[in-house]
Formats: sequence, structure tokens, C-alpha cells
Amino acid sequence: MLEINNLVVDIEDKRILNGLSLTVNDGEVAAIMGPNGSGKSTLSYVIAGKEDYTVLDGEILLNGENILELEPSERAAKGVFLAFQYPLEIPGVATMTFLKSVLNAQRKARDEDELTTPDFMRRVKKAAETLEIDQEMLKRALNVGFSGGEKKRMEILQMALLEPSFCILDETDSGLDIDALRIVAEGVNALRAKDRSFLVITHYQRLLNYIVPDTVHVMSKGKVVRSGGKELALELEANGYADYRELAA
Ligand code: ADP
Ligand code: MG
Ligand code: MG
Repeated sequence: MLEINNLVVDIEDKRILNGLSLTVNDGEVAAIMGPNGSGKSTLSYVIAGKEDYTVLDGEILLNGENILELEPSERAAKGVFLAFQYPLEIPGVATMTFLKSVLNAQRKARDEDELTTPDFMRRVKKAAETLEIDQEMLKRALNVGFSGGEKKRMEILQMALLEPSFCILDETDSGLDIDALRIVAEGVNALRAKDRSFLVITHYQRLLNYIVPDTVHVMSKGKVVRSGGKELALELEANGYADYRELAA
């Protein structure tokens, strides 16, 4: 599904990713852990195609195709989805309207017909129920005045509607109480499928009690310094990241 080889990325002449390699297989949930500032968010932005980053070396293969030359919208059309650490607020645009335009933009990019309103409503309703999102919330401006948990649920709702093949969750757990964490995790778990992979970025082990990963990768100073199974997350929780700073040097 996703294969990253020797990725080197600068922001404003500062080296952020420093020869990062990572493989995520079809149907796999891969957790990325690591201290603050190790480059986790940068990695997710570079995969999604956000500008501001200078890629100096390496490749990101999605099903064998190097996506580094593609626009963010083209990557999205190929099934890449990034749930933000800090979801954007869009005053004046009803959440429902936003969701419909995002979904139809994706369909257009894939040469598919627009959804009819009843079909769209049916899909939203079903996904919103799973995530315990109130219909009233969908009429409000996107994310404006939403609590942290509500914003994260809205990100997962977008993900459920878009049915991406490669999902990146960047610290979706930050700022969530335990109930919201459980709901978000259930939403993600419901989407787990053999043709869909996840990159779950988290600073803490807690989320991984709910979204149990197949693999865990530790990032330090812009590269993956260790990979293992889900037990690696528990080891990190117990011992912290200190050992890994040296590995990256
Ligand atoms: P993480 O998500 O692991 O906490 P980030 O990817 O957010 O790490 O950041 C990695 C490093 O890149 C940090 O040292 C951060 O200060 C730096 N950085 C991130 N964005 C920018 C930017 N726009 N300009 C300059 N430095 C940045
Ligand atoms: Mg951070
Ligand atoms: Mg981050």
C-alpha cells in the first residue's frame, strides 16, 4: 500500500525528515509514536501533499506509484485522507454543505456522478449515528464552537464518508476525554478493512488501547528508529523515549 524510502524533507532550510523509511501494508494499522518535534506531523503533511515543504530526496509510493509529484487533491482522489490534529473552523459554511462538497469533489476527481441529495443524506445519517453526532450539529458552521471531541468526531465522519484507502490520523487523541476517545476509536475500528490502511500518529499509548495497531514505529529526529508489534507501545509507555534519541543521532 504505502512505501516510503529515504525521505529527506526541509522546512525553511531546516532538516525535519532525515532519511525516513516506512512500509504500511494493505489492511494494516501502523502506529507512529515519538517525542514532540520528532517530525510526526511533518510526515503526515508531506504524505498528504501540503506545500511549504522541500522534499530533497526519497520517494513515497502509494500502490507502487510515486505520489510526490501529485497535487493534494490528486492524492485525495487516490484515497489519501489526513485527519488534522487541529481541525479547521469554517464560519459561514454549514457542516452538511461542507461534507457534500468534499464528497462530490472527490467523486468528480474520479469521474463519478454527483450524489443525489437523498443518497447523500442517507450516507451522512448512517455515519453520524455511529459516531454519536447529533443531526443538529450538521446544520451548524463547520467546527465553529465545537468542542475538541466534536471536532475530532467530525474528522472521522469525513473519513467515513470519503471511504479513503490510506487514512492518516495525526494525534486524533489530543484533547479528548475518555468517552470521546472511545467513540472516535470505534469510528476508526468500524472502518478497518483489508483494503484500507491507517497511519495512527500519537504521542501517548492510551489511544492504542482502543485502536489496537498491527505495527508500531518509533520516530526520533526525523526518522523511524525502531519498528515492532503492538507490545512496543507498552514498552515505550514504561520506558519513555530517552533511549531513542541516541539511536537517531
Ligand atoms: P511532531 O509532530 O513530531 O511534534 P513536527 O513535525 O510538528 O513534529 O515538527 C518537527 C520539527 O519541525 C519541530 O522541530 C518543529 O519546530 C519544526 N517545524 C514544524 N513546522 C515548521 C515550520 N513551518 N517552520 C519551521 N519549523 C517547523
Ligand atoms: Mg507535536
Ligand atoms: Mg505533531
